[in-house]
Amino acid sequence: MQINSFLDLHTHTRYPGSKLIKQEDIEQAAKNGGYSEILAMPNSSKIIDNLEVLEEARKLDSSLSIEVHRTASLTKGLAGQEPIDYKKLTEHGVFIFTDDGLSVVDDNLAETIFRSIKEVGAAVFQHCEKSCHTMPGDIAPPNDNSHLKAIHISEETEILKRDLKLVEKYGTRYHAQHLSTIESVELIREAKINNLPVTAEVTPHHVLVNNENLDTSDGKYKMYPPIRTENDRLGLIAGLKDGTIDVISTDHAPHPKNDKVVNFKEASRGVVGLESSFPMLYSSKIFNLDDLVMFLDINPRKILSDIGYKINQMRTFEWKICDKEFYTISEPKNSLFEGNTTLIETNGIYV
Ligand SMILES: [Zn+2]
Repeated sequence: MQINSFLDLHTHTRYPGSKLIKQEDIEQAAKNGGYSEILAMPNSSKIIDNLEVLEEARKLDSSLSIEVHRTASLTKGLAGQEPIDYKKLTEHGVFIFTDDGLSVVDDNLAETIFRSIKEVGAAVFQHCEKSCHTMPGDIAPPNDNSHLKAIHISEETEILKRDLKLVEKYGTRYHAQHLSTIESVELIREAKINNLPVTAEVTPHHVLVNNENLDTSDGKYKMYPPIRTENDRLGLIAGLKDGTIDVISTDHAPHPKNDKVVNFKEASRGVVGLESSFPMLYSSKIFNLDDLVMFLDINPRKILSDIGYKINQMRTFEWKICDKEFYTISEPKNSLFEGNTTLIETNGIYV
């Protein structure tokens, strides 16, 4: 059966360079979740900050039946200190630069980067987290575990506010990745009212989960930005519904089991998401199907296409429909929604 498929604007492929995650794992996870195209983050085991690693990644991508669009980092080695050669990479079809997982924190460097990226006609995708290079926290406040450091809302909003000023100054195309706070939604709303070239995304977990009764002994709840309050969650949903936030992206982040089944402080950041994204969002009944097609399919395609990527508009894909229970095939497993049994109550297409 031919059906339309989704495009994920935020996937961590881990390859090239990963001993644990192979390209086929990502391909299978994407197909299980209804995604035929993904935008890969550059913080793979080998960081994509030069042409050589980009070509290595593309060689692996070329064997897959999904389309993998590539980004490169904003700074060398994601160290937040030195720009990479944006011009060279745009000449080879990369038009999005991001240090995702980390922010560009230094204000002077950010100014240089926003100006340079405007000059080459590309886009900045920013993970907003002010203390990422110095003293990253663990969890959103409030929490009752004194060993865990709070990640305050200002971690996100201070970087976002600065970036929006740079967008205003240089006209650089900007995309705010995985927003988590109601204050950030308001900042993007104002930016759009002022016609700045800005788009934004949220993850399924920030839309579906709040931090009430969050188990701080369980490493699977550790992700950046952290899961925040019910008020923030409702603000993110409102932002999607009024068009302030354009896209729901998975931030699919596979980790070895040993890195997640440890105490919260030591756990790696991030959860898998490609397979659970649509079924969980659809089952939640927060959005109707037309909304979800907009957030998972139409808007991500439009964003990439406008930035310069060759996109399969409304691509169809061959899927085998079966009545098997939904499951995560990715190894290692670190889904926030593992064990959830509501998934088979979807319309039957994706179960
Ligand atoms: Zn990120």
